[in-house]
Amino acid sequence: MKVLEVKNIYKSFGGLMALSNITFDIDDASITSIIGPNGAGKSTLINVISGIYKPDKGSVFVGGREITGVPLHRINRYGIKRTFQNIQIFSNLTVIENIMLGFHSVTKYEFINCILNLKYVKDQEEFIKIESRNILKQFKMEHFADKYASELPYGQQKKLEIARTIAANPDIIFLDEPAAGLNISETKEISEIIIRLKMNGKSIILIEHDMNMVMDISDKIVVLNFGEKIAEGSSYDIQNNIDVISAYLGKSFNNKME
Ligand code: ADP
Ligand code: MG
Repeated sequence: MKVLEVKNIYKSFGGLMALSNITFDIDDASITSIIGPNGAGKSTLINVISGIYKPDKGSVFVGGREITGVPLHRINRYGIKRTFQNIQIFSNLTVIENIMLGFHSVTKYEFINCILNLKYVKDQEEFIKIESRNILKQFKMEHFADKYASELPYGQQKKLEIARTIAANPDIIFLDEPAAGLNISETKEISEIIIRLKMNGKSIILIEHDMNMVMDISDKIVVLNFGEKIAEGSSYDIQNNIDVISAYLGKSFNNKME
């Protein structure tokens, strides 16, 4: 089943064609990477898929339902969650509170419930706390639970950012450079987390400059260059694609790219 379909997307900024006729789809429980040189259109594509930008032309479907133009505050209902390149955590809250906030973006009780049924709300808080601890355990971060997020080393903050995304139980998770600024062992840990998410049925869309990571974990790679899709396929296909090598990989494969 195709969890996401992107069809003939165009997006320009002024005279600049940032995306031109981009089409691809992604399977349930899979890892798809979007790669390409700086300015190729990767972030713009993610912003279009997640509803931050409206495309000039083309459509986006999630689980067969069209979501093109669905406003940003509604898009989470379709199972879309993303983390941002710049860490979006609340540094003046504790680690566990950061995760709990991730849950709150989906819990449905409303003000009226707070008044009518305090016990229900209390039970729900308790449930959220337990689930949040479970997530921290999965990320091997339980011992940080009561520390302020600002006290965590950078690598742990990157993990917390992903952990928070999981709390909302999305089907599709966008990760924009989750390994940026991390060392080799931290990068490996992020790879393992992403693979585990896939095992749990999530579909991951990854933008990442670390080509070793991309080649190791991706089921599918989509290559952009100057706003166009120049290739799509497995790691093997992409590493042997002449167009990709000349546009992109040739220069810098095996390196962190910028
Ligand atoms: P990537 O993420 O692959 O580095 P981007 O999607 O950020 O590339 O950018 C693609 C092109 O669109 C670049 O030329 C960039 O300068 C331009 N661009 C991106 N966002 C905007 C914007 N909000 N306004 C104007 N131009 C933009
Ligand atoms: Mg970008």
